Amino acid sequence: MFEKVLIANRGELALRIHRACREMGIRTVAVHSEADANAMHVRLADEAVCIGPARSAESYLNKQAIISAALITGADAIHPGFGFLSENADFAEMVELHGITFIGPTAEQMRLLGDKITARQAAIEAGLPITPGSAALESVEDARVWANKIGYPVIIKAKDGGGGKGMKVAFSDEDIAEAYTMAKAEAKAAFPSDVVYMEKYLQHPRHIEMQILADKYGNVIHLGERDCSIQRNHQKVIEECPSPALNQSQRQEIGQIVCNAIKKIGYQNAGTLEFMYEDGKFYFLEMNTRLQVEHPITEAVSGIDIVKEQIRIASGAALGYTQEDIQFRGHAIECRINAEDPDTFAPCPGKITEWHAPGGLGIRVDSEIYSGYTIPPFYDSMIAKLIVHAKTRNAALMRLRRALEEFIIMGVKTTIPLHQNIISQHEFIDGQYNIHWLTEYMNKHQKKA
Ligand code: ADP
Repeated sequence: MFEKVLIANRGELALRIHRACREMGIRTVAVHSEADANAMHVRLADEAVCIGPARSAESYLNKQAIISAALITGADAIHPGFGFLSENADFAEMVELHGITFIGPTAEQMRLLGDKITARQAAIEAGLPITPGSAALESVEDARVWANKIGYPVIIKAKDGGGGKGMKVAFSDEDIAEAYTMAKAEAKAAFPSDVVYMEKYLQHPRHIEMQILADKYGNVIHLGERDCSIQRNHQKVIEECPSPALNQSQRQEIGQIVCNAIKKIGYQNAGTLEFMYEDGKFYFLEMNTRLQVEHPITEAVSGIDIVKEQIRIASGAALGYTQEDIQFRGHAIECRINAEDPDTFAPCPGKITEWHAPGGLGIRVDSEIYSGYTIPPFYDSMIAKLIVHAKTRNAALMRLRRALEEFIIMGVKTTIPLHQNIISQHEFIDGQYNIHWLTEYMNKHQKKA
């Protein structure tokens, strides 16, 4: 097992990884930007190294600085977390070349699955159900030809896309030129490549994803699904486990398909296969070759600590579980709480003057915040994840309502009122929502106001 792990991340996630290491008797190295010198994970880690100025490009994305920090402190592994360098195959390769273990899949697996076009091909070969789609698009004319072959509506996506950026929907030949041009321009601005491709656009799907764990010896298990259909701008807002839309036999069926596919691909470590689910059918979207923001709801229901498993697998240990050992208990819901204006979604960094997190049975709060902490303006606006777990979905909803009421964050605006609003809507209470529900609900609501 590793003796010292460097955590190449910040915020609640750096703290999450630190906690797992601590409980495994592993020493931790925090790396931080100049703006994060007072962060909680920096205070708690055994050692801390400043890796550059506030701008992520010069600190959390600075591969050389992070690897130097690992070498200087003698860390034997690096956990990349999510975001930042977590899906950067070149970084994974550099880390390994320096004799340090990258806690994640191999660089080769990341390259295959990080590119949406090659990932789709691998998914088809591995037997995953998928939406009809195109090859890389060469021109507007090419896009028009493909769209007519696939059938409108279609969505044009960047092959290197992520974070819901660079995606444009076209409903007819009239929209195709604009969708193609805009998707390509957005891809060029945000991603390494401006290559785009097209998929059939599903009109009322849910977003359901499967969590898997795979060791280096070909053992694969799944930890069930998460329903992440409550989205705004293609970004997840609330997630729940299990999905209100699936029954046990559907779960087992897709679980089996996913485990077989992962074995064929030869993937190792933790990963998530994202699907859309419409009219009883699954359509593979992409695979995230890293930990996900919403992993705690799976931990609550399965009882498995996913971060510890990632570390164990990377150290060469075999999976300690077979599929039969995994029992799903109860229901969990996560709210992503952002420091944002709940109406306009404008980021709202600043000083937290008062902080009181909810507690009690079945409550987990993952957050780096403490009273007197100043949220820097340079990074993602998520400041806390509130996770509730209870025996049934109804009980989880009651617990979530209670926990949101108890949560006190003063000094900055947060999205807590938005969450309170969402969970009191009958579509959410009944579990009858798809990926468009929140946007449609908010459009209606804003018009009335
Ligand atoms: P990213 O990598 O940017 O997160 P994804 O491919 O995972 O992009 O898609 C993000 C979200 O966009 C999905 O959860 C879904 O809401 C929507 N989406 C993506 N592809 C489609 C599609 N073919 N049909 C309908 N919605 C889609």
